[in-house]
Amino acid sequence: MLGISSKRRFALGKKSFRFLYWYFIDLFFPPRCVQCHSVGRPICPQCFPLIQWIGAPFCPICGQPLGTAGVHTCIDARLLRRIQSAAVFSGPMRRAIHALKYYSDRSLAHYLVDISFSHFSSHPWEADLILPVPLGSQREAQRGYNQSFLLAEALSLKTCIPLDAKCISRRRETRSQVGLSLEERKQNVENAFSASSVKSKKVLLVDDVCTTGATLQSCASSLVSAGAESVAALTLARAILPAIPSHSHA
Ligand SMILES: [Zn+2]
Ligand SMILES: [Zn+2]
Repeated sequence: MLGISSKRRFALGKKSFRFLYWYFIDLFFPPRCVQCHSVGRPICPQCFPLIQWIGAPFCPICGQPLGTAGVHTCIDARLLRRIQSAAVFSGPMRRAIHALKYYSDRSLAHYLVDISFSHFSSHPWEADLILPVPLGSQREAQRGYNQSFLLAEALSLKTCIPLDAKCISRRRETRSQVGLSLEERKQNVENAFSASSVKSKKVLLVDDVCTTGATLQSCASSLVSAGAESVAALTLARAILPAIPSHSHA
C-alpha cells in the first residue's frame, strides 16, 4: 500500500467493509424491484429500461432537459455554477427515491449512486468537498436520517472526495416544497441555510431531486457567502414541471 495516504487507505477500508456489509444484507434479505416487486435487484432488468436518463440536449447550466414540454426557468449561475441530474423523476427512479426517502430503504443510496455515476461523470466537474443538502433537525429526527447525506456519503466513498456534512446546516425548519409555486419555493428556502469552513473550497452539493433548483440555489448562496470558491450540484433526479404560459429562461 506504499504511496497511499492514511486518509485514502481508511476510505478504501471503509469501502470494503461497506461492500461486505451490503453483500450479506443482500444475501439474507434479497432486494425487490421498486417497480414490479420481483425479487433480485432494486430495479430489475425488465424495469431498468424504464428509467429516463437525461442525455443531450440539456441546459448546460441548470441541467433541464431541452426539447421537453416542461417549464425551464434557469438558475443564477453566479452562485450555483451548474446542476446536473442523472434521470427524470419518473418511473423506477421516482419509486426508488420514494423508497429511500419514506420507507427507510437506506441500502438504495449506494445502488442509486452506482447506476447514476456514469451520467454524472460523463460531464467533468471539479470538487474538493462533497456536501449533502441538509434536512431540518426536526425532520431528520422524525425520519432518522437524511437521504441526501446517504447519497453524498455513497458518492464520497466512490470518488474519494471528502464529505463534511457539518459545513452546512438549516437555520430554520422550512415547509415542504411540494405543491408550492416557483416564487413560493424561493421564499420558503430564502436564507434557510448557513455554511462554515468552506473558504476557497470547490463544493459539490448532493440532493435526491431537483425541482426548481430553489433549495440548491439557497444552499449555494450561503456557501458563497461563507467563502466557497465555487458551488455545483448533482441530483439523482430532475422533476419536469408542466409547461405554464408565463415560463421564462432568464
Ligand atoms: Zn421490475
Ligand atoms: Zn437552464
